[in-house]
Amino acid sequence: MILIVLGPPGSGKGTQAKRLTAEKGWPQLSTGDMLRSAIAQGTKLGLEAKTFMDRGELVPDSVVIGLIQDRIRQPDCGSGFILDGFPRTVPQAKALDLALEASGKKLDKVVLFEIKDEELVRRLSGRRTCDVCGQMFHVEFGPIPKPQPCERYPVCNVVQRSDDKPEVITKRLQVYHQQTAPVAGYYKNTGKLKTINAAESPDKVQESLNKALA
Ligand code: AMP
Repeated sequence: MILIVLGPPGSGKGTQAKRLTAEKGWPQLSTGDMLRSAIAQGTKLGLEAKTFMDRGELVPDSVVIGLIQDRIRQPDCGSGFILDGFPRTVPQAKALDLALEASGKKLDKVVLFEIKDEELVRRLSGRRTCDVCGQMFHVEFGPIPKPQPCERYPVCNVVQRSDDKPEVITKRLQVYHQQTAPVAGYYKNTGKLKTINAAESPDKVQESLNKALA
């Protein structure tokens, strides 16, 4: 299964992609995670990307397209993968078509996570992440964001992502509507696009996602 989870920041794409990975074993290819890891390692690409990410803007297409082209050639992508946060522009979607064609692969499904902006602001501003293990927390919905042991690490270091600050959230939503929403239009006539209500609880959204994939 080659799947794209498409939707605004905070719509739960990452959470659902992680659940699918745990259930089905398809790797989650998150360009946001790849870029944050490049920043943490202090690479040239990471430094370049950081200036865009801190402003809530998109990193140039050429950078993220290169990352995905390399990643989908890795052996663990052989029996499918979940694209989370890519493509975010129509040129990225076109580049993906070419990359898949070149490696003899085919996109199966695109699932669009639909949810109102007001709810996204609430979710993103309360979101916290452990920068050691990637576990997610929420100040309102839980689990409780405080240093605590997790499955793999003795202590989590819970932080707010720098782009989850209020002024950056507004910019990211603007960017989504202008540059990423048209990607759904790109897939509309392929027969692969399904839309789900992402405003529900994570369990309900997972149910809708599984139905969309059936
Ligand atoms: P995310 O973790 O998916 O919310 O992405 C965080 C940030 O990384 C975005 O606001 C962008 O600055 C950058 N980013 C992630 N994926 C892409 C992409 N496909 N194209 C351009 N920028 C991206």
